[in-house]
Amino acid sequence: MPTSYDVINPATEEIVKNVAHLDLAATDDAIARADKAFHTWRTIAPGERARLLRSFSHIVTEHREELAQLEITNSGHTRGNALWEADNVANTLMYYAAAPERLFGRQIPVPGGVDITFKEPLGVIGIIVPWNFPMPIAAWGFAPALAAGNTVVLKPAEYTPLTAIRLGELALLAGIPEGVFNVLPGKGSVVGNRFVTHPLVRKVVFTGSTAVGKQIMVGCADQVKRLTLELGGKSSNIIFADADIAKAAAAAPGAVFDNAGQDCCARSRILVQKSAFDTFMEHFEVAVKKFRCEDPNLATADMGPLISKKQFDAVESFLDEPIAFKGSAPTGPGYWMAPTVLLPKNTSARSWREEIFGPVVSVMTFDDEADAILMANDSEYGLSGSIWTRDIGRALRVSRGVDTGALSVNSNSSVRFWTPFGGFKQSGLGRELGPDALDSFTEVKNVFISND
Ligand code: NAD
Repeated sequence: MPTSYDVINPATEEIVKNVAHLDLAATDDAIARADKAFHTWRTIAPGERARLLRSFSHIVTEHREELAQLEITNSGHTRGNALWEADNVANTLMYYAAAPERLFGRQIPVPGGVDITFKEPLGVIGIIVPWNFPMPIAAWGFAPALAAGNTVVLKPAEYTPLTAIRLGELALLAGIPEGVFNVLPGKGSVVGNRFVTHPLVRKVVFTGSTAVGKQIMVGCADQVKRLTLELGGKSSNIIFADADIAKAAAAAPGAVFDNAGQDCCARSRILVQKSAFDTFMEHFEVAVKKFRCEDPNLATADMGPLISKKQFDAVESFLDEPIAFKGSAPTGPGYWMAPTVLLPKNTSARSWREEIFGPVVSVMTFDDEADAILMANDSEYGLSGSIWTRDIGRALRVSRGVDTGALSVNSNSSVRFWTPFGGFKQSGLGRELGPDALDSFTEVKNVFISND
């Protein structure tokens, strides 16, 4: 039975739009269309596939304002973030538009003939997207997937389907043939699960919670289906006493409260070397109080509301630990929460161990380098993190010691489309982005040609 969903503006609690959800039969039809389109898309000359992806990128850039506005209204993202996100889609498409013409195999020396390898596309790729960064996370999957000659069925999150639906329309405007890039709004248990069970979907790219990721991994085993998982995080912001403490403290709110903390890379654990704790907290308090939680349409907004009442309640349940200080947030309609800094009693506190996915950060101290690495690694997750120090040797030692996929030194940025992104431990499986992403969307075929 087809259903539908009322998309809510989280800053006002007003209904934005009713979006129809696909049922199982409609999902199967879309997968069949994507499979049919695969057989022509894979044979399109590399230069032509590259041109179509460049055209898609240009069209996204032409519509960046419209896409950003949709994301502000649908997801409560700040204007600055939403524009960055639309640009990130265009940039990711442009980066991978260079790939079809460079999808090289190898010629391997063997006796008795010639041996060559080909990178063959997989077929239909099912991409399942969470609600926190609807545009970029979709593009990190579909841009390299399409570039490698696959077709795509993409399921946005129930809360945030609007930009994905628009990107599907823009792809057609750009000349991407019908059936190549398909956006399928619907429930995880229906559309998302069908990507896992349908034999014509050859790979699932899942970004979301670790709990659902584990179920998907189990489901994919049945068909030995290829799988990339980008899951939860509990990343550390490690601040050594020899760092520029004022700079580290000024940057720390953005590292965890950006997107209202609904970021898998959020540095939600701050580890400060004991001797620098008081100085850090003084600067950090000033920075947190300056961090503007307000109407996301305002150019000055640093942070908007949480996505839903459900998310608000889940985050609020962490606020029973000692609070150091808080920022401010609007009152009235909308899922607003002030940025909050906690001082957990010890490392078994819930706020220290669990992914909060809201504007809440916990601060603890450490003694020395070894202690910092031990504390950072004391987590089931390993996605990102930051290290602040002026000592280059220490920066390298700690970078090698911390078990996470994406670290930055004297910076809090985690994601660049040029470089690999993904998690250690229960933060994921496989890598997205960077020069090697095409490998996850192709199979290597080896062909031996005899001299005889
Ligand atoms: P979620 O796991 O609830 O949902 C993610 C997507 O999976 C949604 O589209 C949902 O509809 C779908 N889904 C749910 N049940 C499914 C099922 N049984 N089969 C198939 N699909 C199903 O996650 P969320 O609440 O939307 O997102 C928040 C989580 O995502 C956080 O844990 C966050 O850390 C994680 N995340 C990770 C990254 C990363 O790159 N590592 C990036 C962003 C978000």
